[in-house]
Amino acid sequence: MPELLQTLHTTFGYPEFRPLQRAIIETSLAGRDVFALLPTGGGKSLCFQIPALHRPGLTIVVSPLIALMKDQVDQLQAAGVAATFLNSTLSSAEARSRLAGLHRNEWKLLYVAPERLMLDNWQENLKAWNVAAIAIDEAHCVSEWGHDFRPEYRQISKLRELLPDVPLMALTATATERVRVDIIKHLKLRDPSVFVASFNRPNLTYKVTPKEKPTDQIIAWVKKREDESGIVYCASRAATERVAEALAGKGYSARPYHAGLPTDERARNQELFLRDEVRIMCATIAFGMGINKPNVRWVIHYDLPKNIEGYYQETGRAGRDGLPGDCLLLFSAGDAAKQTHFIDEMTNEQEAQVARNQLRQIMRYAEGSGCRRGELLAYFGEKFPLDNCGACDNCSEPRDRYDGTLQAQKFLSCVYRINAASRFGVGINHVCEVLTGADTDKIRRWEHDRISTYGIGKDFPRPVWAGVGRELLRLGLLAQSEGEFPTLQLSADGMAFLKEKRTLTLTKPMETPKVRKVVRRE
Ligand code: ADP
Ligand code: ZN
Repeated sequence: MPELLQTLHTTFGYPEFRPLQRAIIETSLAGRDVFALLPTGGGKSLCFQIPALHRPGLTIVVSPLIALMKDQVDQLQAAGVAATFLNSTLSSAEARSRLAGLHRNEWKLLYVAPERLMLDNWQENLKAWNVAAIAIDEAHCVSEWGHDFRPEYRQISKLRELLPDVPLMALTATATERVRVDIIKHLKLRDPSVFVASFNRPNLTYKVTPKEKPTDQIIAWVKKREDESGIVYCASRAATERVAEALAGKGYSARPYHAGLPTDERARNQELFLRDEVRIMCATIAFGMGINKPNVRWVIHYDLPKNIEGYYQETGRAGRDGLPGDCLLLFSAGDAAKQTHFIDEMTNEQEAQVARNQLRQIMRYAEGSGCRRGELLAYFGEKFPLDNCGACDNCSEPRDRYDGTLQAQKFLSCVYRINAASRFGVGINHVCEVLTGADTDKIRRWEHDRISTYGIGKDFPRPVWAGVGRELLRLGLLAQSEGEFPTLQLSADGMAFLKEKRTLTLTKPMETPKVRKVVRRE
């Protein structure tokens, strides 16, 4: 269809389609439901904008990002596209005038927030408006297994009942297999054509470093990157301000960004960053969604992200212009412990379960010794074809390995003995306490000080044993139950390792754990 290319050139000013865009557009115009999984920056918007211009009638775009609707619509209007939006930011007079325009079929594209669609009078409106297609952006919001569940998204499927002949298009940048299935089910997509682009970002490098003196680490990093723009993601608002101040104190232009700042200050900081007048944004994850700054050269995670999807999105803001981007994660097991604590306080057990699972995955990523790129892509169900990507720390400077046979034997047999002696399972921390011969209430109450492996690991501090335990989990020699109090068992492989007296190489931990004085009550 040469007309599609024509529209791409004349309306949007781009010379060629990005991967999958043309196929998605053609499939949609053929009247089929479409599921499109494209990484951030992959060009999802054009996938529904171009068909909207090539079919009679109105295309509705459901998006949760109210703050971005105006920008997108402004850009479209500037390109001569009859686009508009309706959301809670409009005055009622303005909303009325736009509705009237819709009744006169003046618009080709209408952006709306999902909750709007379900108002009663809307349902009649929708029937009257000659709706030709519906696009659902950020479709992962429909799944509670994603990182951004929005209950309103569950209502969208009513559109299908209301307008049964109108084709749907679901678009997202983040969907694991589970979320993909959920999207198709909850949006009631009908035999959709599924398009999945590669998530690999070849121009990005990935690195994880122990978090020691994070502010100094960031300053050292910035020092080596004169004039480059970057983002420091922090878990708390306070940390964004602290880091921005520390950087500013050293003469670097840095500003904080978080949802607690006054709106004008937040907007100003963002604007300065976009215009390259401020080099460094110290931000919570509130920053970045939908922001298109092509020349971000690096992204640092000051705190452990909550999940891999978020981490991928946030690092994905580096190098959108295709030039190199560096991603650094400052890792501390203490951050993970903090998160576990928050999760344990959650009242909704299902949400806690999801959060726990996500934390386990990001820990696995951070502590793992395999290719970071391979790990990230595996998360999205994609297999990276090379063993060595050449552009992550584990590939370019592999961590030291050591003969961990003895450590593994001690750890595994300790789990085995505890399980044999008890009617209930125990978690990783308890095993480490038994190994190091700790004197705790639980150990005495459960008589784990009488087990033959009690104290056989006194030669190492507990954090080292915890690291060994997590590596054995990653290697599949140990298995862990789900739930608030995950307990350990030997896997078949772990059992075979002990029985067959196999050897095992382990990776030196990244973190040099601080040896604490063990106070004994003897
Ligand atoms: P996504 O929603 O997938 O993150 P967008 O639709 O916002 O991506 O597109 C990201 C950027 O890429 C935008 O600036 C967009 O205008 C641009 N873009 C989209 N398609 C093309 C193309 N075919 N050629 C060049 N630039 C494109
Ligand atoms: Zn790699």
